[in-house]
Amino acid sequence: MNNGTVGTVPDWRALVARQRPPWPDEAVLDAVVGDLVASPALVIPRECDALTARLAGVAEGRAFLLQGGDCAERLDRLSARAIRRTLRLLRQMSVVLTSASALPMVTVGRIAGQYAKPRSRPTETVDGRTLPVYRGDAVNGSGFTEAERRPDPARLRRVYDASRYTIDVLRASGTEHFASHEGLLLDYEEALTRRDRRSGRRYAGSGHLLWIGDRTRQLDGAHVAYFASIDNPIAVKLGPSTTPEQALALVDRLDPGRRPGRLTFVVRMGAGRVRDLLPELVEKVTASGAPVVWVCDPMHGNTFEAPGGYKTRRFDDVVAEVAGFFEVHEALGTHAGGLHVEMTGEDVTECVGHGLGLEDLHRNYESACDPRLNADQALELAFLVAGMFHP
Ligand code: PEP
Ligand code: MN
Repeated sequence: MNNGTVGTVPDWRALVARQRPPWPDEAVLDAVVGDLVASPALVIPRECDALTARLAGVAEGRAFLLQGGDCAERLDRLSARAIRRTLRLLRQMSVVLTSASALPMVTVGRIAGQYAKPRSRPTETVDGRTLPVYRGDAVNGSGFTEAERRPDPARLRRVYDASRYTIDVLRASGTEHFASHEGLLLDYEEALTRRDRRSGRRYAGSGHLLWIGDRTRQLDGAHVAYFASIDNPIAVKLGPSTTPEQALALVDRLDPGRRPGRLTFVVRMGAGRVRDLLPELVEKVTASGAPVVWVCDPMHGNTFEAPGGYKTRRFDDVVAEVAGFFEVHEALGTHAGGLHVEMTGEDVTECVGHGLGLEDLHRNYESACDPRLNADQALELAFLVAGMFHP
């Protein structure tokens, strides 16, 4: 069998892969991986290169990236209608942003593969009972039972099939849409990595753009090593603990050729800290000559637990973090390159503000993980961000 990865021994396997699920049976995992290795990739190198070229425009200040979708996709909610609603919302937001900024939008869904979640703790206790934590539908189930929470490698095949279906809906929508997700499960990612016959280079075949999460961006870790081995456009989430030295080392490791569009930094500092923490990162990376794309994720630094146990975010904090991000770039003369949001076209009640209070959260809280902006909130955010451009 020639699957395109034959002959490659990527060095990431020798390193620590943080957040790797405790798969109960490696032989079953190997069988699923073998099945995926023999399956077609979901995206092709030419499409990935096209996204790199579009992102090069962002790196050079001539375009803006809008990236959005669920925190965690759910296998039991897969439907063409829901996918189309999210795509329509992304399109509406991009129309608002493009008319205000006069910049072309690069629209990328957090979609067709966003099924694995990094977690801060391996277990969760409810009413005195402790079970393994939910790690995304790619790994286990969200229901609070022992059976649901047991990692099941067969889920990787279901994720592949669901992602293929989603990509088909994306392709049928006509307008150009790209798919992205966190490349957390390296067994899955490697199984879908293919060598391009024309260029001889390796590409992740699970999505156009993959990102490294804030919890797995260690320079000596397996994720950075795997990402260094692929040629897709990639991103790294940078949280408040990021030092400028780490950011510079990530550039050297992940974009040694300084190729515009190759590397995006998605910063998620929190509304209260972005103005303090971002300037030094941007200054030092810019001074190094690295052409990275700077994107604001105003969600992950602004999460708190509401009474009743709901994880939520305040709409005003989300807006405030984007405003801080734009101010920092304005002051430094650099390009505020994009917005990364957790949102859905469904009418959910997960974030508070713009019409929803803490008392509304229980009404339609559907997220399997983090709270998303609903369509009204996301569109309102787009209008407010539109007012932050100074073309
Ligand atoms: C996420 O994007 O859902 C996420 C977990 O983000 P981060 O890695 O920035 O915490
Ligand atoms: Mn999230």
